[in-house]
Amino acid sequence: MRVAVVGIGAVGSAACRFLAEAGHMVVGFERFTIGHGLGSSHGESRIIRYAYPEAHYTKLMGQAYPLWDALEQAAGEELFVRCGGLFFAPKEHPELTGMQQALAVNHVAHQCLSAAEVTERYPALALAPHEVAIWQSDAGFLRAGAIVRAQARLAEKAGAELRENTIIESLTQLADFDHVIVCAGAWANTLFPEQPLPLTVTRQQITYLSGELTGYPVWIDAKSYWYGFPSDGRISGVKLARHIPQIPFDPDQPGRPTLQSDDDAALAYTATRFPSLGPEVTHHASCLYTNTPDESFVFDHPHPKVTRVSACSGHGFKFSILMGRLAADAAIK
Ligand SMILES: Cc1cc2nc3c(=O)[nH]c(=O)nc-3n(C[C@H](O)[C@H](O)[C@H](O)COP(=O)(O)OP(=O)(O)OC[C@H]3O[C@@H](n4cnc5c(N)ncnc54)[C@H](O)[C@@H]3O)c2cc1C
Repeated sequence: MRVAVVGIGAVGSAACRFLAEAGHMVVGFERFTIGHGLGSSHGESRIIRYAYPEAHYTKLMGQAYPLWDALEQAAGEELFVRCGGLFFAPKEHPELTGMQQALAVNHVAHQCLSAAEVTERYPALALAPHEVAIWQSDAGFLRAGAIVRAQARLAEKAGAELRENTIIESLTQLADFDHVIVCAGAWANTLFPEQPLPLTVTRQQITYLSGELTGYPVWIDAKSYWYGFPSDGRISGVKLARHIPQIPFDPDQPGRPTLQSDDDAALAYTATRFPSLGPEVTHHASCLYTNTPDESFVFDHPHPKVTRVSACSGHGFKFSILMGRLAADAAIK
């Protein structure tokens, strides 16, 4: 079959690879260069985890994990750092009890830790006495930018043609293809003026603060939605960010601004949580969330020959390889 893939980010690069490796003729179109910094998939790291307050996401991750392992093997480079994950909140907080239930019903091994046990293991992290944590060893981080490039490379090796700096303005340009997969991220609605989805694009900032956290897990404060990473070995300092959608942002705006107020908020949060971090900001960058009203993903068929897919709402990277796989399957069935 001849399949067109619009958008070569996390989902599109995965779809191109799976289609090409299955022997199909694939042409991928990317409006910028592969690995650019104006979409949602650039940078050093994205959290991967089974721990979710919603059991269906935990279950889906059971399908995504083997795909990540296989990609890493095929690429021959480190793409997944399995450093474990720590998820904390006040005792009985619904996000945390939800995670615990989701892990339990999906038979994912985990441990519940008191604040004192956390401090004993991770002295740089301060939990209040009324807080508790879940530890899960399969969590960690995915090397996001490297993954997009690796998937694109493998797709080309298997015969895909990837056209950079090529904007698809209308699906009529792709009428010759047997199927079209649209995974255009923040631009998802532009190709469907008559079937728009209720999407809101927001600019989100990540901040690296001076300091080092080696041997630490990824972490999520499930009450405030701050989250962070251990030292990633690539960028100096320690990365953290807040998973709260900011004000709407036009993806066609040139550049992706960073704000002093976002860095200040990261410093204010770490002052009590990770007092050894800061005060210097060693790096910062912005990235786009494409949000649905309930943070779920998009996977539909606006036309019989078109699959529209977006693993979005700020938590989709870990699922992107699975979404790419499912989109490829839908295209050839
Ligand atoms: C700050 C931040 C932190 C995040 N943290 C996490 C995390 O810890 N864990 C996690 O799982 N997820 C996380 N996410 C979410 C995750 O990164 C995204 O869900 C994922 O990267 C989305 O991938 P995508 O392929 O849908 O979009 P993109 O990677 O943006 O790909 C879409 C591509 O389509 C191209 N395109 C658009 N329109 C056209 C067109 N008409 N013609 C040609 N090309 C086009 C774009 O240029 C772009 O390259 C985070 C996101 C951000 C912004």
